[in-house]
Amino acid sequence: MQIVHQIESLRQLIKANRAANPAVRIGFVPTMGFLHRGHASLLEAARKECDVVILSIFVNPLQFGPNEDLERYPRDEERDMAIARETGTDIVFFPQVSEMYPKPTRTMVSVSGVTERLCGASRPGHFDGVATVVTKLLNIVQPDKAYFGMKDAQQVAVIEQMVYDLNIPVTIVPCPIVREEDGLAMSSRNVYLSEEERRQALVLSAALEEAESLLEARKETISPEQLRQTVVRHIQSAPLADIDYVELLSYPDLAPVDFWGSDERIIIAVAVRFGATRLIDNRILHAPVASLSHS
Ligand code: AMP
Repeated sequence: MQIVHQIESLRQLIKANRAANPAVRIGFVPTMGFLHRGHASLLEAARKECDVVILSIFVNPLQFGPNEDLERYPRDEERDMAIARETGTDIVFFPQVSEMYPKPTRTMVSVSGVTERLCGASRPGHFDGVATVVTKLLNIVQPDKAYFGMKDAQQVAVIEQMVYDLNIPVTIVPCPIVREEDGLAMSSRNVYLSEEERRQALVLSAALEEAESLLEARKETISPEQLRQTVVRHIQSAPLADIDYVELLSYPDLAPVDFWGSDERIIIAVAVRFGATRLIDNRILHAPVASLSHS
């Protein structure tokens, strides 16, 4: 496994790989480090489908708001390298902020529409930061495939839209959410949780699972808003849960769903604070075919 810190060294390595085998398939997994099994699943998917697997670790300041956790974002370089090795990663790109942004950037990539709701509304500027850094990374690596987790389903929608609109020559591969055994979606931020917050945070996956069963059992009679309300009530049953949003939208366009359309994918997405820690989770469901009016 090779570890590189400079863009130029990475470009040279990639060039050498492409020169040695023009048909080489390069898989890319961008992360902010503090890796867990969710990240490992993306690396494993890339390992299966590609000849060369490149992981980037970069905590991108552009995507953090002024009162967010940029300064205290968890880091563990040694463990990250161990996970990268275990998953058969070939190259780790680990740049400093000064390498990625030697001067303040004057170009930002901004995706409209799919960024209007959910984290786009709660974290102004967040997706501009994500779209900009992902564009830079895709330009630097020029992978054949790039792997993203559905844990950040809105991010997947934003990046797919951006790749489509800007004709970026890469295939985006969305990968399923990896959860702890008890259901909590894996996240680097889970380490911030106290024992009690961690226990109560289980309400997120439980509420989403309940919504899925409810939709299955009562699809003839339950409206989208009623379904959303059951998720809200379930989450409110945890005293430490402070809801940022609970939304039911179409996926991937992320538009409001007032009544069930036909054969549409919907997302129930939640963002909830437990103390100072903001967690997100979601579930993608198939909307019932039966059409219900407003209620
Ligand atoms: P991050 O380091 O949090 O920016 O995440 C890097 C990539 O890993 C993103 O594509 C995330 O969606 C993905 N990821 C993070 N957590 C999970 C998870 N629990 N399951 C699947 N993918 C994940």
